[in-house]
Amino acid sequence: MVFNIQRYCIHDGPGIRTTVFINGCPLKCFWCQNPEGQSIRPQIFLNKDRCTGCGRCVSACPKGIIEIFGGKSRTNRDVCDGCGKCVEACPNEARSLVGRWVSAEEVFDLVKKDYIFYEKSGGGVTLSGGDPLAQPEFSIAILKLCKDNNIHTAIETCGHAPWKTVKEVLQYVDLVLYDFKHMDPEKHKQYTGVSNNLILENVKRICHELSKPVWARIPIIPGYNDSPDNIESTAKFIKELGKSIQQVNLLPYHRLGETKFERLEKEYPFSIEPPSEEHLTNIKKIFNLTV
Ligand code: SF4
Ligand code: SF4
Repeated sequence: MVFNIQRYCIHDGPGIRTTVFINGCPLKCFWCQNPEGQSIRPQIFLNKDRCTGCGRCVSACPKGIIEIFGGKSRTNRDVCDGCGKCVEACPNEARSLVGRWVSAEEVFDLVKKDYIFYEKSGGGVTLSGGDPLAQPEFSIAILKLCKDNNIHTAIETCGHAPWKTVKEVLQYVDLVLYDFKHMDPEKHKQYTGVSNNLILENVKRICHELSKPVWARIPIIPGYNDSPDNIESTAKFIKELGKSIQQVNLLPYHRLGETKFERLEKEYPFSIEPPSEEHLTNIKKIFNLTV
């Protein structure tokens, strides 16, 4: 299951890339930019501005889980199986379905169209998400097709998966984009739902046992993981990973995920402002990045 395939990406690895967003993630970060990709099932996006409360979706839903509340439709998402009947019934295109089942071959047929751009720019294919390790067989099937056809491969992962899965998938991966969200296991659990123990253990093995090239990716979330203490311990940990670390990328928090939470009829769990330029400059200095 994928929830997006984006061509001509330039921030998900080297060169021009196609990024395939694979459903499923073991983490539930407060600041998630792609909440529609957290679960491995299709999700209904509701655009409330378009909803007139006509009730056609209510009659169309075989599970009887839609009601009209305050003049707008409302869905019990715990029971929704993503059949799409309500989407077909809506006359105002207020509802859409995000996430679809595709074969690895279908994905590959699409990504291979840009082979010439990959070749000229040193690009390739990146599996992101969600998390590609949440659907390992599917990810391996896509990656294998890419490698068999001489296309550079990358995955973007939070790293929370059994080592056996990580190792199997990485056989077909040229570059790993690895997320570091917090160095304190308790805070990591509080903000993402899981401890960082497995994540940090896995990245050590990726670097020291497999010697895979890694780009460290650090979301900068003001008030959550941007204290000097946490930034310094993240920088220290990454330095100790050695030569495998090819780049460190800071990913400043932005509010683009907020609209997606609204469309999923979920409350946006917090409200903060993106980090200032000055703050980012100070963080870059700690990582010895060019400012
Ligand atoms: S996708 Fe199907 S089950 Fe889900 S709300 Fe729409 S009609 Fe009901
Ligand atoms: S069918 Fe569309 S416009 Fe009518 S209540 Fe449902 S979502 Fe709203």
